Amino acid sequence: MTHRTEASEPFPPVRPGQLAHMHAAVIGWYRDSARALPWREPEASPWSILVCEVMSQQTPVVRVLPRWREWMGRWPRPSDLAEAPSADVLIAWDTLGYPRRALRLQETARAIAERHGDRVPETEEELRALPGVGDYTAAAVTSFAHRQRTTVLDVNVRRVLGRAVAGLEHRPSSVSKRERAWAETLVPAREHVEWNAGLMELGALVCTARNPSCEECPLAQMCAWRSAGKPAHPTSVKRTQAWAGTDRQLRGAIMRSLREASAASGAVAASAVAAEASSEHAGGSGAAAVPVRLLESPASALSAAEAEFLDALPAPVRAAVLAVRELDAGGERTSRLIADLVADGLAQRTDGALHLPV
Ligand code: SF4
Repeated sequence: MTHRTEASEPFPPVRPGQLAHMHAAVIGWYRDSARALPWREPEASPWSILVCEVMSQQTPVVRVLPRWREWMGRWPRPSDLAEAPSADVLIAWDTLGYPRRALRLQETARAIAERHGDRVPETEEELRALPGVGDYTAAAVTSFAHRQRTTVLDVNVRRVLGRAVAGLEHRPSSVSKRERAWAETLVPAREHVEWNAGLMELGALVCTARNPSCEECPLAQMCAWRSAGKPAHPTSVKRTQAWAGTDRQLRGAIMRSLREASAASGAVAASAVAAEASSEHAGGSGAAAVPVRLLESPASALSAAEAEFLDALPAPVRAAVLAVRELDAGGERTSRLIADLVADGLAQRTDGALHLPV
């Protein structure tokens, strides 16, 4: 479907007639096949769309949906989230991963409340000036919340355009100015919201990274990569990092222990040993602390009182602490990652105990 000026041209122009055909195929498919998601409803607020976009980065919709519903119920306006205790925000983020996003989102909410009268800005420039809002999120909010014509380029869109138009299996990891300019030439003058959303949905459901369902794809007859026999990208490198044994896994386990301790703070505070080992470190936040030694010391190094304290913890907290200990019984990695979490503002260390930020 392409008209290349050079055999090696990575961003080939598309003839107007072919482009119109492509628009009709993607937009028609989106109207017929898109998932019914609450942030796509006409009454969805720009704030709810911004929250969804931040949550959806590197996280599948099925995991985002319950968290998003809870967040919008608790914090329907930016000012609501701005005023929430950070510990509550991290608990509500639950297991969405990359919890720094939760704190950045709260910073964004504060900036919107203070600088924009509690209304999500409409221009990409204003959006990019918010903490933690990058090119993709700014474009997505501009398009989906304010229905302005812009170019939304996430990993799914780039994969679909790369395959269907350029005939490449995948793109390099970062978006270049040339790629952005090229993608802009493909955005229709009308129905641009449906085009952007349709490409994203197509990449999420049909033109997936590993097993594209080309027989179900509205672009199948015009797809350059398919017609070329789906050649592997010459620089293709399998860089999938196993989850088990990674620092991310252990960081997630430590954060889970803090969320569970905070959620069970009443029970923890009721423990006699907790009073000795933890409550004085809780910072008065209502978010219970976990003694660092319970997280990072080998079993042989725990005192009898510490072992008893561990046994007396509420079951979800004990299970979370034991999970950390199982992942890193020696404690060297745990110590390092605890320091990282504190440096990132995701946890606070008060004397010998760790807790969610207050
Ligand atoms: S035909 Fe296959 S490879 Fe081409 S865009 Fe559709 S799903 Fe992707």
